[in-house]
Amino acid sequence: PKADNPYAGGTGYVNPEWRAKANSVSGGSRISNNPTAVWIDRIAAINGTPDSSSNGPMGVRAHLDAALAQGASYIQFVIYNLPGRDCAALASNGELTATEIGRYRTEYIDPIRAIQADAKYAGLRIINIIEIDSLPNLITNVSGRAGATAACDTMKANGNYQTGIAYALQRLGSIGNVYNYVDAAHHGWIGWDDNFTPTAQLLAQVADLSGSKANVHGFITNTANYSALQEPYITVNDTTRPSAWIDWNRYNDELSFAQAFRTALVGQGFASSLGMLIDTSRNGWGGTARPTGPVTTGTINDQVNGSRIDRRIHKGNWCNQSGAGLGERPRSAPAAGIDAYVWVKPPGESDGSSTLIPNTEGKGFDRMCDPTYTGNARNGNSMSGALSGAPISGAWFPAQVTQLMQNAYPAL
Ligand code: BGC
Repeated sequence: PKADNPYAGGTGYVNPEWRAKANSVSGGSRISNNPTAVWIDRIAAINGTPDSSSNGPMGVRAHLDAALAQGASYIQFVIYNLPGRDCAALASNGELTATEIGRYRTEYIDPIRAIQADAKYAGLRIINIIEIDSLPNLITNVSGRAGATAACDTMKANGNYQTGIAYALQRLGSIGNVYNYVDAAHHGWIGWDDNFTPTAQLLAQVADLSGSKANVHGFITNTANYSALQEPYITVNDTTRPSAWIDWNRYNDELSFAQAFRTALVGQGFASSLGMLIDTSRNGWGGTARPTGPVTTGTINDQVNGSRIDRRIHKGNWCNQSGAGLGERPRSAPAAGIDAYVWVKPPGESDGSSTLIPNTEGKGFDRMCDPTYTGNARNGNSMSGALSGAPISGAWFPAQVTQLMQNAYPAL
């Protein structure tokens, strides 16, 4: 039987490729021994990509062997190569076109399965984080919604996000020591009433399509996002919900959202043992700008803006956020219903380039990564809040990791 919490009791695999990058930055040795996830962001990454901007020569098998050598109890992979990937943004567009579901199955999922199912690795808990940002896009960024894109309409119409994820869940979930966690966005995306229950329903449908909800061990929120874990100085209530920052959302932080969304998912038929993960790699919001108590005077916007620890311009901002810090260090069972705080986005790997950088890796230029951009419907037409000087998504961004360490909370 699978462990209830695969993170409990033992140590996580430290990716040597990320560790070397972290160690290359002044002060980086303070963080480089933390477990981070290995992103399998293209077919070639299965065998290693010495020439990619994101990863290095180690492929899935090399990482598993290194995990055995480290004596790690668990290792984390990100399964990230859907057809028509990143339909509401451009920075992480992938290699498979909207219709290439056949290649996803046979050239991507099947070879990963063959390696993960090798008996040599049966003593490791292999955790797969499944397809970031895909299913929530089918709820919020399709026709009829302000953030609609043609690419998300295409993916909704062809069903290849659902088909691909169901296939991954079935093929990988049927291995005895493999644990699948599916992306569930974050509170600043799914926390509104229009999005919350429809997203839980869609996640349940896709799990059913895989043959069994038991193929899903849990869900992850805030992957590669910046939403605060807790907002200690703000209560969500009838007074604060109309503020521009909360904007009628039911939630204002990831912990309360993840716990409530877990309850909603159990309500859709998932097992009551379902566990949540929260990505805390870049949601610390410490440093000198962090408020030390609530602001209780002025308009409600003055109060909320003065009290919030999340210093973003708008919750829809997602690219290389200026002022961010490392959040909680990875650890298991930190709160009720939460299997772990994790660093799935490796701190210091860019979300996208701040100017157009031609490349052969399929990565587009998304203006949400451009500090001069004035926004779109998905971020309330606000400034992007992105750092300047960023390389393409996945590439090492030393200035970002330096700021993340400066603004870490808890402090380093
Ligand atoms: C990129 C991937 C990269 C990952 C982790 C994503 O935004 O598209 O190439 O592996 O981030 O940094």
